[in-house]
Amino acid sequence: MFRFFRQKVLLPEPLLKAERSLNRKAQCAICLRFFHAEHTCQNSRDLPVVHHKKYVCDLPPNHRFPMGKFPKVLQCLLKDQVITETQVWVPLLASDEMLGSVHTQEYLSNFITGKTDEKEQRRTGFTWSSGLVQRCRYETGGTVLAAQVALQRGLACSTAGGTHHAFPSYGSGFCLLNDLAVAAKHLLTESRIKRRILIVDLDVHQGDGTAFIFKDEPDVFTFSMHCGKNFPLRKQCSDLDVSLDDGMEDKEYLSTLQAHLPWLLDVFRPDLVLYDAGVDPHWEDELGRLRLTDQGLFERDQYVLKSVVKKGIPVATVIGGGYSRDVDRLALRHSIVHRAAAKVWKEYVT
Ligand SMILES: [Zn+2]
Repeated sequence: MFRFFRQKVLLPEPLLKAERSLNRKAQCAICLRFFHAEHTCQNSRDLPVVHHKKYVCDLPPNHRFPMGKFPKVLQCLLKDQVITETQVWVPLLASDEMLGSVHTQEYLSNFITGKTDEKEQRRTGFTWSSGLVQRCRYETGGTVLAAQVALQRGLACSTAGGTHHAFPSYGSGFCLLNDLAVAAKHLLTESRIKRRILIVDLDVHQGDGTAFIFKDEPDVFTFSMHCGKNFPLRKQCSDLDVSLDDGMEDKEYLSTLQAHLPWLLDVFRPDLVLYDAGVDPHWEDELGRLRLTDQGLFERDQYVLKSVVKKGIPVATVIGGGYSRDVDRLALRHSIVHRAAAKVWKEYVT
């Protein structure tokens, strides 16, 4: 399996040999040195899924952000036997150094210590709490880990992530730390191997923070396909923006995606794809303005993952946005990308 991927081997050869000869416990100790993980997973037969129970924190009652979806995504994957516990990797929280590669020191120190004013809290949609800081740091660490695992195994999925509206010096639209940008920066700098990273952002909202952060970075290509009339009002320039009209349905959406992704992969030739599989283009979503169905989202995710994996390019997924008062239904919708990934894994990776 590993031969299939261009730059999978994170472990140096002597350690790979040692890893093969050691027992399970010792293998974990070795892997922990190379992955941003609290717990690594030795099951290499099945799709790796990155999850932390601290992806979630308490919010005031009736808060608009559906925080409860994060544990429920994992629960429904386990309940429906899409995955088993043996596939779950547990991330460490994102370090100060990782966060500092994207965010300004002033913003980070204010955010971490709670020195945020009311205006800032209105812009992010969250009242500050230490639990919120912890949650965001674990979520960001999870995206870093998913990217690292994808590089080794070909495909990996987090059960959170996609906070693409966060800018270097401020948060916005329920996004406080830009996990995609932190993961991309970390993967560009953690190894001496030169890498090119493509961010495919199919959340219904433009990935404005990510576009801004990488506007002068030639090794990261930002592709955002979003509803033109939706938030944010003031768009940034991604390397490629595809603006969609309100009310677009499955067929037209998929053909628009199919008109862009293949040539992008051929021309940019990324070493890793980070895929934001936001489910807010769904017709029932409270903040989306498109009309995709569950089947349309499944076909979209399957198309992206197949297109990337068939070219031998590793891909890590994050769940992105999705808004509904019915958290069970929403979590099930977010699990579509993991279901598509499990299918693609069986067909193309193992
Ligand atoms: Zn969104």
